[in-house]
Amino acid sequence: MKIIIIGSGLAGLSAGYKLCKSNEIIIFEKDREIGGMAASYCQDYTGKKYFIEKYYHHIFRSDSELLALINELGLERQMLWLKGKNAYFVDGKNYPMNTPPEILRFNPLSVTNLVKLGLLVFRIKIINDTTSYDRIKAKDWIIDNAGKSVYENFFAPLMKSKFGENAENISAAWLIGRVKIRSDRGKEGEKLGYLRGGFNSLIKSLEREITAQGGKILENKEITEIVIEGNIVQGVIADGTFIACDAVISTVEPGALDALTKGKLGALHETLQSIRYQGTACALIGLDKRLMENGNYWLNIKADVPFGAVIEHTNFMPFEDYGEHLVYVTSYFQNEKDVLWMQKEEEVLDSYLKGLEKMFPDFSRADIHWAKLFRRMDTAPVYEQGYLEKVLPFAAGPSGLYLAGMFSSTNYPERSMNGSIKAGFESANFFIKKDENCDVCWLD
Ligand SMILES: Cc1cc2nc3c(=O)[nH]c(=O)nc-3n(C[C@H](O)[C@H](O)[C@H](O)COP(=O)(O)OP(=O)(O)OC[C@H]3O[C@@H](n4cnc5c(N)ncnc54)[C@H](O)[C@@H]3O)c2cc1C
Repeated sequence: MKIIIIGSGLAGLSAGYKLCKSNEIIIFEKDREIGGMAASYCQDYTGKKYFIEKYYHHIFRSDSELLALINELGLERQMLWLKGKNAYFVDGKNYPMNTPPEILRFNPLSVTNLVKLGLLVFRIKIINDTTSYDRIKAKDWIIDNAGKSVYENFFAPLMKSKFGENAENISAAWLIGRVKIRSDRGKEGEKLGYLRGGFNSLIKSLEREITAQGGKILENKEITEIVIEGNIVQGVIADGTFIACDAVISTVEPGALDALTKGKLGALHETLQSIRYQGTACALIGLDKRLMENGNYWLNIKADVPFGAVIEHTNFMPFEDYGEHLVYVTSYFQNEKDVLWMQKEEEVLDSYLKGLEKMFPDFSRADIHWAKLFRRMDTAPVYEQGYLEKVLPFAAGPSGLYLAGMFSSTNYPERSMNGSIKAGFESANFFIKKDENCDVCWLD
């Protein structure tokens, strides 16, 4: 069967990997390189060539599909589990947030409110099904269960930095999912996973497996239409040329899918239009000196600066792997009118550097080797109250059209690499199951 996959992120590559042995696979990627949001940037400023993700990434212990895929591809020797120090920068002060005694020293909350925060986290840990929390706003749920001060002084700045003006509409289901994953610490405290050599190794390994089986991955090739006639997929259009195929797996964001299918997805059309995505403007900076001397990996920020977090990669991964210090400075933004999207790259970088100068008196621009800004509009669904109803099915309606990506059920209530790999596999299963049953019934 000839299957066209739109998008070479982890969802598209995982689907291609599962299907390439018994099908003709062509993956179309509109960017110049593959990997989508998990793609890397190649740097050799210090004469040592290395790959580093354009957007900070790590693995959680619960990422079972991702970890199994790493093993299957023979990359397990590159897997590291490391402690990354977390802190919260509130009104000019750095609060370490790694152990219960440290959290008890978080002065913006009184002891009573710290106890309420602890009880809320405990409550979250024992919730197994978030479905009934999807229609409740996180803000209301936190205030009802832990009080206004816990919301305003702890959660509100974090949610504002993640969802901007949409923060107050985010569902309690998202919050519960997020806190659960970050509080899964075990006896030794939280350890995060990372692949030595970066997630580029995973992307390249998937590419090798697909192409070794005769699959094709075409970079810089944007699909402009999915051609559907009589409710059956006929093929796609790229560069003005029609390419026939038996089936399409689309991994593109819902608004873009709606445009590609020219509104032919019937009942799904309105849902596709109603799902909101947010963007990310993430600066990656190579430095001569450490930025956070206290060893922080992840710093959440409540301060008057244009970013919400600073992530010092080389306070997590060994400096020697890179030969320079690597820092991400990042912010989400909500729409195309945001300055982080409208401004030129150098203007955004300048505003971020001014923010760093304000927060870190020892930081000097003279220490910068290089700085890059990576930004995209489609980096995460906005998990608003009631979002669960909008989760897209794997089979889109028209015969031969399948969907897998951040909008899939495997990425609810928070998107991740694991969720997209699982979505890619789920979409591939439609073909594998049908292959097992009969040769032609996939045309149903
Ligand atoms: C700042 C940031 C930090 C993150 N940190 C983590 C983390 O620590 N851990 C974690 O698990 N996850 C993290 N994620 C999330 C993770 O990167 C994503 O969930 C996952 O990579 C999404 O994969 P995907 O294939 O679903 O989508 P994408 O990676 O978005 O892939 C879709 C692809 O489709 C292509 N495309 C779109 N339209 C077309 C078209 N018309 N024709 C051809 N190609 C097209 C796009 O260019 C893109 O390459 C992070 C994401 C961001 C932005």
